[in-house]
Amino acid sequence: MIPGHEFVGEIVELDEAAAKRWNVNVGDRVVAEQIVPCGECRYCRRGDYHMCAPHTLFGFQRVTPGAMASYMVFPAEALVHKISKSVKPWHAAYAEPLSCALHAVERANIRFDDVVVVAGAGPIGLGMVAGARAKNPRVLVVLDYDERKLAVAKKCGADITINVGKEDAVQKILDLTGGYGADIYLEGTGHPAAVPQGLKMLRKLGTFVLYSVFKEDVTVDWSIISDDKELDVLGAHLGQNCWPAAIKMIESGILPLDEICTHQFPLSDFQKGLDMVDAGTESIKVSLIP
Ligand SMILES: [Zn+2]
Repeated sequence: MIPGHEFVGEIVELDEAAAKRWNVNVGDRVVAEQIVPCGECRYCRRGDYHMCAPHTLFGFQRVTPGAMASYMVFPAEALVHKISKSVKPWHAAYAEPLSCALHAVERANIRFDDVVVVAGAGPIGLGMVAGARAKNPRVLVVLDYDERKLAVAKKCGADITINVGKEDAVQKILDLTGGYGADIYLEGTGHPAAVPQGLKMLRKLGTFVLYSVFKEDVTVDWSIISDDKELDVLGAHLGQNCWPAAIKMIESGILPLDEICTHQFPLSDFQKGLDMVDAGTESIKVSLIP
């Protein structure tokens, strides 16, 4: 199996059916959504293709090899989008995490008067910040341990950044909201501590959107969700219908993409890139160039 589900490439060959289906030609630069929906299951038939039952993803199954290679073959079911050649290729490949982040933002249903908190300023969290900024809430707050990432979050549109290693984030949010708590909490860290943190800093009837996946079970007091606050807790997965918006945002130049896409390595140095992501101390988004 070849990994790699965030990618961009140039079309070198295609048949008439593919050209018509995706409105593209040889020489065009394209991205494809990570999911290759079957088109036939209950979810696909009702438009919820991101929840496709067989759930075939580029880079996760043998039938759809990923992008850590010189060439890829897009099957007929792939969802292909054109993207401008005026952006750097590693910026174009950021369309994948950005579309996911935008989907999480859409799940949150942000209102103008909301205080929105984004937990985490990695590739997903920064995309959430950019998406939440586009919805223009009253205050947009970002939480992280890393001052470097918080500085990038500001450039993505955060009004306030809180270093959770140095400050009491829950207290700061309560102070900011007259003791009520935030309206919306978007979790993009994948750290178990970010879940109870969100439950504590949300107001009653607030909304918790969870995009992260966790390595281990997360234990929280579920009574906060019911008896205490009557929260809406929403999951989010992949980037349903958000790819055009993500591509538009990348092409528009409003994002500090050079500071999000921090490192590029030749594919032969993939281990160096993976180690750098694992350490998480100097990079945000690492790209491999085949
Ligand atoms: Zn399906």
